[in-house]
Amino acid sequence: MDNIKHYDIIIIGSGPAGLTAAIYSARANLKTLVLAGDSFGGQLMTTTLVENYPGFVKGVVGPELMTTMIKQAQNQGAELIYKTATKVDFSDKEKKLVSTAEADYTASAVVIATGSSPRTLDIPGEKEFWGKGVSTCATCDGAFYKDKTVAVVGGGDSAMEEAIFLTRFAKKVYVIHRRDEFRASKVMQDRLFENEKIKVIWNTEVKEILGGSTVTELKIFNNRKNTISSLQVDGLFLAIGHIPNSQIFEGQVDSDERGYIMVTDHTHTSVEGVFVSGDVHDHHYQQAITAAGMGSMAAIDAEKWLAAQK
Ligand code: NAP
Repeated sequence: MDNIKHYDIIIIGSGPAGLTAAIYSARANLKTLVLAGDSFGGQLMTTTLVENYPGFVKGVVGPELMTTMIKQAQNQGAELIYKTATKVDFSDKEKKLVSTAEADYTASAVVIATGSSPRTLDIPGEKEFWGKGVSTCATCDGAFYKDKTVAVVGGGDSAMEEAIFLTRFAKKVYVIHRRDEFRASKVMQDRLFENEKIKVIWNTEVKEILGGSTVTELKIFNNRKNTISSLQVDGLFLAIGHIPNSQIFEGQVDSDERGYIMVTDHTHTSVEGVFVSGDVHDHHYQQAITAAGMGSMAAIDAEKWLAAQK
């Protein structure tokens, strides 16, 4: 491993957690590499206005916030490489190995900040119509549905946000939810209920996606009445939560049964010198600000751990 570039800290991921960790780590004068992923910035890159990140009176557009964080991290001295980590080996305490498809890197400490990805339904037609009417990102694809009819699946804040956003383009937006109440915050529910373009379909699950070259129809199941019916739509947006991006850490650090990386003490993982922050650990809050907060904690913990090794 002698010809491999070595860092004090490698941060894997470039959402609010990873970039905040990078700002703190670089500012502490630690040689810091961020493996930012092929597409940087995490989930805020596909968000519109973020109204609940402190410091912005009128909110801030997601991609703008992330681009600013990247500049701030670089300005503090962090090195960013826009590649995805594909493999890790944490067996050597002094030189933890992190690989991309192109190169290997080692570090004394690692911060895992790989976030989470949108969950899918795993039903017939979902794969076939992916990108041809099925999407997990209204911000990215909403404009394709001008004067069309779309459906959103889910009952959390994401579903509310996606549905409300889609009313900018679509003439009608169905929100299909498997229960008879939403788990979304009251303020988001209120905004959804007062929007005349939105109709909620309760106690209902999407069972199949049908169409030709693009989506035209959903087979939906009412789980109260035990009935199947058809719903004509031009697009389907999934907003049913997330799964942690922890696959490459399997067998390296302890995670729970859903794959969320566990902590032993604050941000310390089961492996000495490996820390975690953001949505790959936190399935409870899942906020940009909590991810950023935990990113700072991970960098502080890593800095203290590194100092203790000397
Ligand atoms: P979430 O809160 O976990 O909600 C997921 C929704 O999808 C739930 O309503 C769930 O139904 C439904 N669901 C899950 N699996 C399903 C399946 N297989 N079939 C059908 N429905 C399914 O996820 P989220 O909405 O992405 O929000 C995640 C976090 O981000 C939350 O903490 C949220 O507050 C936050 N967030 C905040 C904002 C904001 O503040 N503006 C915006 C977006 C997200 P059940 O309710 O029946 O379980």
